[in-house]
Amino acid sequence: MKLESIFVESSFAKSGGVPQDLLLRAAETCSFGMTLADARRPDLPLIYANNAFTEMTGYEPDDVIGCNCRFLQGPDTSRANVAQIRKTLRDETASTVLLLNYRKDGTRFWNRFQLSPVHDEAGELSAYLGMQVDITDDVERVGLENERQRLETLGRVAGGVAHELNNALQPIRLYADLLVEGPEPTPEMLVKCGKGILDNAQFASEVVRQVLAFSRRDEDASHDYDAKSTIDEAVEFAYEYLPSSMILEKQGFDAVGLFDGKTIRVNRTELFQVMINLFTNAAAATLDKGRITVRLKASDGGRLNVRIDGGPTEKPKNYLEISVSDNGQGIDGDTMKHIFDPFFTTKAPGDGTGLGLSMVYGIVERWGGRTTVESDPGKGTTFRVLIPVLSNA
Ligand code: ADP
Repeated sequence: MKLESIFVESSFAKSGGVPQDLLLRAAETCSFGMTLADARRPDLPLIYANNAFTEMTGYEPDDVIGCNCRFLQGPDTSRANVAQIRKTLRDETASTVLLLNYRKDGTRFWNRFQLSPVHDEAGELSAYLGMQVDITDDVERVGLENERQRLETLGRVAGGVAHELNNALQPIRLYADLLVEGPEPTPEMLVKCGKGILDNAQFASEVVRQVLAFSRRDEDASHDYDAKSTIDEAVEFAYEYLPSSMILEKQGFDAVGLFDGKTIRVNRTELFQVMINLFTNAAAATLDKGRITVRLKASDGGRLNVRIDGGPTEKPKNYLEISVSDNGQGIDGDTMKHIFDPFFTTKAPGDGTGLGLSMVYGIVERWGGRTTVESDPGKGTTFRVLIPVLSNA
């Protein structure tokens, strides 16, 4: 085994403390891949790779010693994550990235790659320690789980649509039956049946419109818009939808300089839809006689999670927070658990489709943002929508 000579030649072995041979044997037996790259030579050639690395990649030490670790990359390796590694090397810091890598035989695997600098006694950078864990099974499990959830949601959506349309079709059929099969209708009867058919047909159209909007995700691309004026426009537009008895108060829109020149990447129609859904819910919760307060403020995203789909993405630093508060009935604990579920509604059949909030949630997620809700039962509810502010703005 050339391992000891590598360490001695490269003078990475330290005297005293833990016995060197024990340290080397530990590296050889550990279950995750371990590599050392010489930071004193150009292009960081590998000077060590342990057994687990060979098992994981199929490369023997002889294949890789003297080479830069980039031989693990392939056509589908994320350039952004490779750039993150380069930055780590430039900054002489440590980092962990999720990389799609390629074995010697060309097969792909997901590598949770951790890189950290090693300094010598004088504090000079001398090597980079790489630790690799094959997490392909975990990634595939997450993929399968996402697919399972997608199918489950699709099933729920299809079931919900069928249920809602049936609710609308039944009275239509009854009214039509009455007109065709029943006694000669009086003028009042004609109006009653006609209105019943019209109302239910309108409701059915609304279900279809919402389902189409729900599924027509990529039809209209997002564009970059001036944050403040676009949100202001969406708020005014949504307010037009409400009965005139509703009061609207806007806060933070005039904060000097806060959002000037700031841009958000959204689909304008969707932004309007988000506002209309939040406003109509607020109106329903206040029986059309309440107050809606819309606040605009800057946010750093707080506890927003980093998203992992094919690799961790960098968390946007700045968000714009739109909060929509009402002084309505509030939301109880049970309702809260299902509030963003498709077809969940507490409204009477025909009054609500239960698609509004699930649509809001889906739209905002696609913008890279988040929707949250807080409620004080009996006092009111606040929905918060976080939208990433473009970094070049
Ligand atoms: P829908 O309005 O068609 O019922 P949503 O998905 O928009 O569907 O809302 C789901 C449920 O969430 C509503 O039925 C209602 O119980 C609750 N909800 C939504 N917004 C509010 C609010 N501002 N105040 C109280 N309850 C709300």
